[in-house]
Amino acid sequence: MGAIKHFFKTFFLWELVKGLMVTGKYFFVRKITVQYPEEKTPQSFRFRGLHALRRYPDGDERCIACKLCEAICPARAINIDIGERADGSRRTTRYDIDLSKCIFCGFCEEACPVDAIVETRVFEYHGEARGDLLYTKDMLLANGARYEPQIVVDKALDAGYR
Ligand code: SF4
Ligand code: SF4
Repeated sequence: MGAIKHFFKTFFLWELVKGLMVTGKYFFVRKITVQYPEEKTPQSFRFRGLHALRRYPDGDERCIACKLCEAICPARAINIDIGERADGSRRTTRYDIDLSKCIFCGFCEEACPVDAIVETRVFEYHGEARGDLLYTKDMLLANGARYEPQIVVDKALDAGYR
């Protein structure tokens, strides 16, 4: 009996028909495929993307070189060197993040007492050569300058949960 059933299933291409039935079923339902990059899925204001170092509105760097972000980073992706400025305050002389090591956990942003290091919503970046994903202080500050308006909005949205 089993052999006959198998014969008919094979003869009438039953597995193929079953597959086409599934295709037919989804042919008329609402499409959920996102046509990236023309279409994008919604993003949370807590999205953890490309890092940025921020400045205060007067242009001064927020970072006070406390090294908390470097200490908490589980991937050891952050490297900071410190120097003293003429006014006696501490600032970083080097602030590198190796994004090829980073696991985008957000711990650096959480640890920062002055909201200096943040993760932006930007995820469309890449590197083509070795070292392209090593972001230096200048690169991170440039990110901060570029994305500050969005960062301010996201921080305000998150403020109620802190
Ligand atoms: S997001 Fe996490 S892994 Fe990446 S630099 Fe910050 S603390 Fe390190
Ligand atoms: S980015 Fe924040 S946590 Fe990291 S060294 Fe600067 S002030 Fe400290």
